[in-house]
Amino acid sequence: MSATVLSGKELAASIRAEAAAGAAELAAAGRPPKLAVVVATADESSAWYVRSIARAAEKAGITCNVLDLGADATPGAIRDALTSLSADETVHGVILQTPLPQGAKPEDLAGAIASGKDVDGANPLSLGRLAAGLPAFAPATAEAVVAILDHYGIELSGRRVAVVGRSTVVGKPAAHLLLDRDATVTICHSRTRDLAAVTSTADVVVAAVGRAGLITAEHVSPGAVVVDVGTKPTEDGGLAGDVDAATVAGKAGALTPVPGGVGPVTTALLLRHTVQAATAR
Ligand code: NAP
Repeated sequence: MSATVLSGKELAASIRAEAAAGAAELAAAGRPPKLAVVVATADESSAWYVRSIARAAEKAGITCNVLDLGADATPGAIRDALTSLSADETVHGVILQTPLPQGAKPEDLAGAIASGKDVDGANPLSLGRLAAGLPAFAPATAEAVVAILDHYGIELSGRRVAVVGRSTVVGKPAAHLLLDRDATVTICHSRTRDLAAVTSTADVVVAAVGRAGLITAEHVSPGAVVVDVGTKPTEDGGLAGDVDAATVAGKAGALTPVPGGVGPVTTALLLRHTVQAATAR
């Protein structure tokens, strides 16, 4: 039997439509929503991602300004840009795109993004608030994981969830969101001993590593739900997930595809957050 495909496309479309309706209301009230993306890299997959955010934003009626500081931007220049956008009354959402130039740490610089505009939950304060159960924007990718599981009616309360990856943008916030939903969460990382022994006891496996095909059939229990966050560019211009779908699909109960799973929901949630940020002002 083959795993059910948990596509993110339908969910993403409905979130985009809701964001577009919110944006239209704001525009009618003379407060058109605006998103700003700060870029300081020549990385091609990052450029592709930023273009896709900008396209989706414009389609939803959200202005998207991309501020490209160049791949040799200094941490000071990046911080100044974030500070200035945070103070700009016409801007409602601010994203700091990664990767950054060597020596520039996202977790240091994102502190310059005003909390109310931190639509991708990059400011460490947002993660702290999330961990404390206080209102904050969660990183969109982490939220997308839970949103997809909810969309397909997958129960989380009391279930064992293994999150593979502990980055501040995906693994840790996803673990907090899942914990908030009363899941029993285990976080795995590169030092986890016998990864398969841990993940194969979970009802839900969330893979957020960035290593194509790391999660194979031996890592999942029969019938488990698998969420693949990984997006590794392939030589032929495609994207590979962390999950070896060819083997896992024969054992898991359900699996998100790459592309077309977490990715489109992430972009849609950035739009929703921007509209929420603009509405709250
Ligand atoms: P990251 O910062 O590089 O973190 C990767 C994590 O994976 C680290 O915690 C690392 O452990 C862990 N890891 C590495 N090798 C491992 C192994 N063999 N076994 C178990 N854990 C291992 O990456 P990220 O920013 O979280 O992104 C993860 C993936 O998600 C990437 O493919 C990225 O492109 C993708 N992503 C997708 C979206 C989307 O919208 N779909 C958005 C953001 C990111 P240590 O902490 O011990 O080093």
